[in-house]
Amino acid sequence: MDKWATGIFTSIDEGLGAGLDSVKELGVSTVHLHAPGSELRSKEKTAEIKEQFAESEIEISVVFVGFPDDDYSTTDVVKQTVGLVPKDRREQRLAETLDISGFAYGLGVDAIGMHLGFVPQDPTDPDFSAVVEVTRKVCDRCLEFGQHFHLETGQETASELLTFIDAVDRKNIAVNFDPANMILYGAGEPLEALDLVGRHVRSVHCKDAAKKRQAGQPWYEDAPLGEGDVDIRAFLLKLHDLGYEGPLTIEREYSPNQVGDIKKALQLLEDLRKEIRG
Ligand code: MG
Repeated sequence: MDKWATGIFTSIDEGLGAGLDSVKELGVSTVHLHAPGSELRSKEKTAEIKEQFAESEIEISVVFVGFPDDDYSTTDVVKQTVGLVPKDRREQRLAETLDISGFAYGLGVDAIGMHLGFVPQDPTDPDFSAVVEVTRKVCDRCLEFGQHFHLETGQETASELLTFIDAVDRKNIAVNFDPANMILYGAGEPLEALDLVGRHVRSVHCKDAAKKRQAGQPWYEDAPLGEGDVDIRAFLLKLHDLGYEGPLTIEREYSPNQVGDIKKALQLLEDLRKEIRG
């Protein structure tokens, strides 16, 4: 895999071919993959998916865990529904996360990632320890499969994230750094955050967001890469300084022109890569 290979975040839930066809059309060689539902994670289906990606010469660098009942409509609802934090769904979701780790292993992928949810900020809160415990269980399973467990940024400040990572105390815990999420969740300046957690970063989302919301614009809506308030050039320069050489994976979620935006983002990253790395 080339250093700083450009990739996209994709899914295959709408049928095995659908996600792959659009990835091929965009000409990228690496992706982050949303884990599909359990019906596509059987041994046979996993082998089929692996085969299709291999034939297309597309590498999956991280499999992302999500749940059908994750709800991002407001940040309060996120607190109640997203990740491994909501108590009422924790055990069942832990089981599903462990299953997805196995699915990723079947694909030959050495990392899974997820939004853990809003971890309690106070380390003396008993639920902080409970979330640390469940995260250790995920890390330990991942370790058996030779995988890292990547925490998606944004639902906490960088220093809270560091406190949590230290508490989990597992060598295979890592960070998927998403600069736009820092803005969307109001969790701090993205580049300052990257300074703090940089040593843990094993994957990134190249995603942008505007601080200023338009009237009626949902809180979670991102912006075309380079048009929001993440300084993408400075972001890449910092990644370069950190020695980060993994893929630059574009995430463009809410757009009437998703493919057009991704094409522009690919070009922007290509130009910056040439400028910064020669
Ligand atoms: Mg992201």
